[in-house]
Amino acid sequence: MNFTGKTAIVTGGSRGIGRAVCLELAAGGANVVFCYAGNDAAAHKTAQDVEAAGGRALALRCDVSDAAQVDALVSAAEERFGRIDILVNNAGITRDNLLLRMSEAEFDMVVAANLKGAFLCMKAVSKRMLKQRCGRIVNLSSVVGLRGNAGQVNYAASKAGIIGMTKSLAKELASRGVTVNAVAPGFIETDMTAALSESARSAAQGSIPMGRLGTPEDVAKAVAFLAGDDAAYITGQVLAVDGGMAM
Ligand code: NAP
Repeated sequence: MNFTGKTAIVTGGSRGIGRAVCLELAAGGANVVFCYAGNDAAAHKTAQDVEAAGGRALALRCDVSDAAQVDALVSAAEERFGRIDILVNNAGITRDNLLLRMSEAEFDMVVAANLKGAFLCMKAVSKRMLKQRCGRIVNLSSVVGLRGNAGQVNYAASKAGIIGMTKSLAKELASRGVTVNAVAPGFIETDMTAALSESARSAAQGSIPMGRLGTPEDVAKAVAFLAGDDAAYITGQVLAVDGGMAM
């Protein structure tokens, strides 16, 4: 895909799916600005790999649940590369627990990072994209936002919320050439899922019609499609990338 001259902001770009998205966009020639929570070593490595893949990289620490930090991220991206064409809201966390054991803090933390973070980033880039009369926003939801999952009331709320926000903003921005879509990954091999027990993994694998876990690259290809010129007439959609889990 050709992203030459385009600038993308990818939240949570240092590891996992976000890292794969950064590399996919960079391979198409994009300027890639990505943020991360605190893992400087991973961010440094991804920035190097973005440059090696053919893009230009800017890595910044930014907690997406903090409005001032998000505004600083978007301003820094604009200052460095002059414009913002693509936003990928990928940063996300889990704090799993059954409802009766889930603390208010665990609920608030997940909703703040996963849902409020996406809201703040969309708010920060929308004005600029409206002025340009073009732009692409891709939000990471989850199969859990579509189907629910025991032990993930907080995470499911954030990921179902992402779908509602995606469709609402798609309606607000459609007439100005800005598309807003979501990707809903299934079970993807990243640090987020590495912590699961062997029995939980094989149970999850058993529920995937295609019989294998997904890779970050499987998701990144779908994100890149929705972020590209070929997806110009697609907005407000949720694309499941889950080996058939959410059929
Ligand atoms: P991951 O490997 O745990 O990586 C998370 C990334 O988000 C890291 O770059 C991390 O930065 C960053 N991050 C976390 N909290 C942040 C915050 N408050 N502000 C800024 N950056 C923050 O996660 P993943 O598995 O790639 O998941 C990426 C997205 O896909 C998430 O939204 C997740 O919910 C969604 N998803 C994943 C799966 C899956 O099976 N893996 C399935 C469905 C949906 P540091 O490196 O500094 O910690």
